[in-house]
Amino acid sequence: MASSREKEKIEHDSECCMTCDLPLSTEMDLVLLEVVDVGRNGVCEVVKNVSEGYYFLPYFHHADCWSESARVDISNANADSPPLASSKPRLVHCESCLRVFDDEERAIQCTSGSLQQSKLRTDLTFVREAKPSLLCLTCFAPISNNHPDWEEELFDLQSS
Ligand SMILES: [Zn+2]
Ligand SMILES: [Zn+2]
Repeated sequence: MASSREKEKIEHDSECCMTCDLPLSTEMDLVLLEVVDVGRNGVCEVVKNVSEGYYFLPYFHHADCWSESARVDISNANADSPPLASSKPRLVHCESCLRVFDDEERAIQCTSGSLQQSKLRTDLTFVREAKPSLLCLTCFAPISNNHPDWEEELFDLQSS
């Protein structure tokens, strides 16, 4: 739908995968993690700073690292609590615990895609290749320490 958003330059903090610490490169399947507020009808807004940049700089994982390590840690952490049956399946929910998000709840948006290089080395654009999924902060907590800038603020905020 929003075709202008399909290809974009993403500011990010780390040139490395947050699971394995190896560099990111073009031609690799990646997962982009962004902090969003879940709005009505499931429209998610990336949390911005005053100059409209990312308030929480996004992180990347290699797609394989994400599915084989990070996602497994999330599932294992939730193994004791069976997924809640979603009574409102049309509303947007956490892909791990299936809990339906509250309005304006903060969440982690996970989008598969890849980096593509333009002529300048520094100018990488991220191409979103799939519809994003969402994780609630509770489900994300087991791997929050892999994401140092977020851990401090997102998780302090939660416990207060
Ligand atoms: Zn990796
Ligand atoms: Zn969850």
